[in-house]
Amino acid sequence: MPVSVAIVGSGPAGFYTAAALLKSGADVTIDIIERLPAPYGLIRFGVAPDHAKTKNVQASYARTAEDERVRYFGNVEVGRDVTMGELRETYDAVVLATGASVDRPLGIPGDDKAGIVGVAAFVGWYNGHPDFRDLDPPLDTEAVVVIGVGNVAVDVARVLTKTPAEMAATDLTDYSAAAIHAAPIKEVYMVGRRGPAQAKFSNVELREMGQLENCAPVIDAAIIPDEVPADVSPRDARLIERNLGTLREFAAIDPGSREKRVHFTFFASPVEVLGGDRVEAVKFERTRVDEAGRAVGLGEYFEIPCGLVIPAIGYYSEPIDGVPFDTARGRAESKEGYIDDGFYCVGWIKRGPSGVIGSNKPDGDKAAEMILEAFPRGKKPGRKALTALLADRGVRVVDFAAWKKIDAAELAAATGGAPRAKFARIEDMLKVLDG
Ligand code: FAD
Ligand code: NAP
Repeated sequence: MPVSVAIVGSGPAGFYTAAALLKSGADVTIDIIERLPAPYGLIRFGVAPDHAKTKNVQASYARTAEDERVRYFGNVEVGRDVTMGELRETYDAVVLATGASVDRPLGIPGDDKAGIVGVAAFVGWYNGHPDFRDLDPPLDTEAVVVIGVGNVAVDVARVLTKTPAEMAATDLTDYSAAAIHAAPIKEVYMVGRRGPAQAKFSNVELREMGQLENCAPVIDAAIIPDEVPADVSPRDARLIERNLGTLREFAAIDPGSREKRVHFTFFASPVEVLGGDRVEAVKFERTRVDEAGRAVGLGEYFEIPCGLVIPAIGYYSEPIDGVPFDTARGRAESKEGYIDDGFYCVGWIKRGPSGVIGSNKPDGDKAAEMILEAFPRGKKPGRKALTALLADRGVRVVDFAAWKKIDAAELAAATGGAPRAKFARIEDMLKVLDG
């Protein structure tokens, strides 16, 4: 009997696990269970719409999904349609690959005001995630504060400031393009609580901010350190030096006639969101970075007036019933991906919300190795039992052939050089299947 494996989540970590199991040549059946009809997790719903090349990795995931040993169970949510306990009873091995999908709270006074929109929600909204289709973020403001200086913060700053022409050949959803391009936004403040040398963005992403048609980067040259901190690795030193060099170039840029600006603000930790019901400003404490690399408050404060705050301070995984959870770190408790007998985790739910797409591959390789070592042959029915259980519950499963029909409809609906026109509502995806 083949070893039956259920992978919960169809993002990079889930697909890398499936690919590693297939590559081993072992006798396995693999079922990928995904709560949305659409596969690929943050490749579809996180990666910026204007970074089309990054999404090309989907093609290799599709080949995995089409292998005869693999079935895709889209539109099936673990915890709603089937429990984790049921899956573990049904499959020899269950791999949790559910990612980190919610916003880490800012945790300062006033952070519940209207006009504070977490980045997971904001990115999900412009990328067509059904959970956030109706977010309707208040973009009726000239100034936006983005808290955090990671790659996600850069994505958001760029999407808010690119022109309609720059976004035309992208898969930015039509409703969000209309809202963003009608907004009066002129100033975007990206704020880091530490210094330019501690920023998390990578250099390719940073440099793009200097190449925008109608937006200029702004930074005070005086805050850019002359040297890279002494205590970093040679690799990090090279990366930091590149970023500092790019920021120095930004400091010398004349905004000319460009109407929008992205202000790179450092050494500023948010302490309070000010305003009435709606945010009117963010109050920051000036900081310095101590020897251990931590931000230390200086007791001096300043405010940035704005009508929208987007904390881009990292994602968080929600606890899942039946899964031991480390709430402080926002990830499953595991020993290098081993949770319990026949139960594993990979990707952001295992490591926490950091790392690029390729960082998830070693997790998949490791999980496959552990599974094949623990289960030389299968004992549990897997697919047959899950299919019967879901049919019994009247769950509408979207299999991979059905997803390909939805995909084809999105590709066919694209206009103006865009690669696709995304459906952002589950009912619209299902309507394609109903003809
Ligand atoms: P995810 O990609 O989040 O996949 C998890 C999947 O599990 C989702 O499809 C979800 O719907 C599903 N799921 C969750 N709960 C359940 C459940 N209960 N039942 C069934 N299914 C469930 N990396 C790059 O290399 N380049 C980039 O340009 C880039 N851009 C990014 C942009 C953003 C905004 C973010 C947040 C990240 C970006 N990354 C980028 C990082 C990259 O996306 C992640 O490393 C990667 O997606 C993590 O993979 P994962 O499989 O762990 O999680
Ligand atoms: P990140 O890289 O961890 O950046 C988070 C930022 O938020 C940091 O600047 C952090 O500052 C700041 N922050 C955290 N808590 C804060 C607080 N309480 N107050 C103020 N600032 C706070 O996370 P991310 O941007 O969400 O990215 C997640 C992962 O996806 C990363 O590995 C990233 O590289 C990857 N990604 C890659 C791409 C790409 O390759 N193009 C695009 C998007 C995302 P401190 O450093 O001081 O903690």
